[in-house]
Amino acid sequence: HLGNATAKAELGRAAWRVLHLMTLRFPDKPTPDDRETLKNYFHLFARLYPCGECAAHFQKLLKEYPPQTSSRKSASLWLCSLHNMVNKRLGKPDFDCLTLDSTYDCGCNGTNATTSA
Ligand code: FAD
Repeated sequence: HLGNATAKAELGRAAWRVLHLMTLRFPDKPTPDDRETLKNYFHLFARLYPCGECAAHFQKLLKEYPPQTSSRKSASLWLCSLHNMVNKRLGKPDFDCLTLDSTYDCGCNGTNATTSA
């Protein structure tokens, strides 16, 4: 059903954008609490993501490739590679993870998410 496919794709684009920006704003030197929070976020996200088929598949990926939370770099590259696994499964092109920084801009200049709540 075309309408459903369009909505599912739009949901996916929005979700990926938030997820990538979240890892790209993650600290270079996260505290244990930062690390726990990011890990939990992905597991909760995978439980609650509205597309059930996508959620089930993402849960499997998380089991096989647990979130890497030791730094901004490891977290953002980890997520990029997971997104590439989803791309592959859906027949979409591979994304060059070296272009993450130039591709994504959160528009939130300088304010750090994890320490300034
Ligand atoms: P998207 O994959 O949405 O990507 C959006 C943009 O992000 C791209 O245009 C590109 O600029 C950039 N990008 C692409 N790859 C990467 C990468 N590796 N790292 C960083 N940036 C990148 N759809 C299904 O039909 N079945 C599923 O099982 C399914 N599972 C999903 C699981 C999750 C967790 C999420 C968030 C989405 C899932 N989707 C699934 C949706 C699917 O991944 C796409 O979001 C949707 O099909 C729209 O694709 P798109 O071509 O617009 O690009």
